[in-house]
Amino acid sequence: MSERLTDIFGIDVFNETVMLERLPRKVYYALKKTIENGEDLDPYVAEVVASAMKEWAIERGATHYSHWFQPMTGVTAQKHDSFLSTTRDGKVIMEFSGKELIKGEPDASSFPSGGLRATFEARGYTAWDCTSPAFLRRDALGVTLCIPTAFCSYNGEALDMKTPLLRSMEALSIQAVRILKLFGHDDVKQVSPSVGAEQEYFLIDKAKYLKRDDLIYSGRTLFGAMPPKGQELEDHYFGSIKERVASFMKEINIELWKMGVTAKTQHNEAAPAQYELAPIFTTANIATDHNQLVMEYMKRVANRHNLACLLHEKPFAGVNGSGKHNNWSMITDTGKNLLDPGKTPHENIQFLLFLVAVIKAVDLHADLLRLSAANPGNDHRLGEDEAPPAIISIYIGTQLEDVLNQIMKNGEAKTCMKGGRLNVGVHTIPELYKDAADRNRTSPFAFTGNKFEFRMVGASMSVATANTIINTIVADVLSDMADELEKAEDINLAIHQLIKRTITEHHRIIYSGNGYSKEWVEEAKRRGLPNIKSMVEAIDSLVTDKAIKLFGKHKVFSESELVSRRDILYDSYSKAINIEAKTMIRMASVQYIPAVIKYTKMLADSINSVKAAMPEADISVQEELLMESSKLLSEARFALNNLKKLVEEAAGSLNGAERARFYYYEIVPAMKALRSPIDKLECIVDKDLWPLPSYGDLLYEL
Ligand code: ADP
Ligand code: MG
Repeated sequence: MSERLTDIFGIDVFNETVMLERLPRKVYYALKKTIENGEDLDPYVAEVVASAMKEWAIERGATHYSHWFQPMTGVTAQKHDSFLSTTRDGKVIMEFSGKELIKGEPDASSFPSGGLRATFEARGYTAWDCTSPAFLRRDALGVTLCIPTAFCSYNGEALDMKTPLLRSMEALSIQAVRILKLFGHDDVKQVSPSVGAEQEYFLIDKAKYLKRDDLIYSGRTLFGAMPPKGQELEDHYFGSIKERVASFMKEINIELWKMGVTAKTQHNEAAPAQYELAPIFTTANIATDHNQLVMEYMKRVANRHNLACLLHEKPFAGVNGSGKHNNWSMITDTGKNLLDPGKTPHENIQFLLFLVAVIKAVDLHADLLRLSAANPGNDHRLGEDEAPPAIISIYIGTQLEDVLNQIMKNGEAKTCMKGGRLNVGVHTIPELYKDAADRNRTSPFAFTGNKFEFRMVGASMSVATANTIINTIVADVLSDMADELEKAEDINLAIHQLIKRTITEHHRIIYSGNGYSKEWVEEAKRRGLPNIKSMVEAIDSLVTDKAIKLFGKHKVFSESELVSRRDILYDSYSKAINIEAKTMIRMASVQYIPAVIKYTKMLADSINSVKAAMPEADISVQEELLMESSKLLSEARFALNNLKKLVEEAAGSLNGAERARFYYYEIVPAMKALRSPIDKLECIVDKDLWPLPSYGDLLYEL
């Protein structure tokens, strides 16, 4: 097969070109109207589209179709049905109706619903999201036509990540269009959030991966001492890509391109064995679907290369973790990026209004943003040295900060700092123009030229929640702004005053310094910014009066949907930690402790035989090692028993939030207490006796 990008890009997508080719004009335009303006879909149109989709898919080898959806498990789900159908006279035909395209009925009882439905009420529906194109997936099952769908209960409550995201996109569009009308842009009918999700991941050798229960069951190492070399030399970042990894990258690009995912950038990341893949941005819901495909295919393709792909936020303690940078902006249906400052940002009042709207939204709802990046894995990352801190702040760069300062002081900005020329002092190197502002890698929410980059999201998480929240909180601020401005007599004056007032009230959220520093923690406290350190402490922000009002007003989540999501989050936290704790208990009991016992026996035997052979020989080394390892062994045994006791206790009567808190406050520290002596033993015990591959083996040997 050709490997030319232009030959393979999107060949497995039922996209615009295919639709134009295969649909009658009238049907095509009717479908476009639904996609672009959200108009109701005519059943006749669905019928014709289904038939065309089936023909196209079958020509490309498909035998099955599947409604592809994103339940609250965080991974995608699909049920496969073949096109097979029988006629009355016993013949076999391939069938796919409009009804089958737009609606599926998977049994919903095995997906988390957070109490939205009782187990005996099994009905759930998947409904076609025609704004995200259908595509073909190729795997050992053959070729399957995948139809992106939303998943809801019998009563229409959302059971998935996509439904609220689509609702929030609508809310944002409505409010942004109102604001644009005030600026005279009557031609704009829709505004869409654009998203580009950069994905970090680790690749390690598959055989070594299979030797570690912790990686298999929890996705991260629960034990492991640091190797002598960490990432202090900074020689991996952007370094040359190893052969085996390069062939993985080549293959995943091709797989993704075929499905229309615009995989664009790839490079080594900061930690050894860590990499990144970034696509070109697109509409938020498509970007979310694509990111799910990216994660899934990373695992799949890695497997083919005898590699294991780790998407956990912190697979290795003491080594950089993996995140997902969620680049976000707003783009009109006329093609204008609303966060593009242009050449003279200080005069671009429309840009400044949208900018301060985002600033205000982030300041008012920092707790929700923090929640959108909360999962058990990210607890190890946020607030540690390498990751954005758990405190939400915004970086906008010196140029825009200066503009906003002028506005705060004088009500308007007269000047604007320029980038100027960059001189490297070598004549043969062309002179470059530099950006007006530098970057800040430590900020969790950074303006990077014409978009915001939310850097807190965890590597394994869907970006749906983060974008649902960003869309809704910005929609809410824009809605209040529109309410105020629509009443104004002098609109120009009113906009200027609104910008000044908004930035004056919310500039506390702007911070340009080092987000990883201790001083910032102090400073943020003085400014009254929340510092929510863990998932368990973040969850309740979903159900505050403020949140219920916000999501209710914009019809993104009903109160019962919020409560259900809170319950799912508490539950998923408890389950994740329970698995980790049980895995540690198992590994310590059947692998580490027996290995150390063998080692101590070896030392004892050595002491005895040396003594017997030569009574005057110096055996202090063996004695010292025996003393030290025995002491650590008993420490480990004590910690193990304690952890076992706590895990049993947790299985008892505790419920929801209480149970999650017990895991966080009691069990997580007990897990650390068990890990500590075992990691110390790893640096003492004979490597031949150590039952598992070390960090060094995993991170450096590929
Ligand atoms: P950086 O080093 O700045 O993070 P990358 O190229 O790794 O650069 O990632 C930038 C990401 O931002 C890409 O996915 C890109 O497509 C995305 N992006 C660029 N412009 C926009 C925009 N207007 N809206 C959303 N995402 C954008
Ligand atoms: Mg980035």
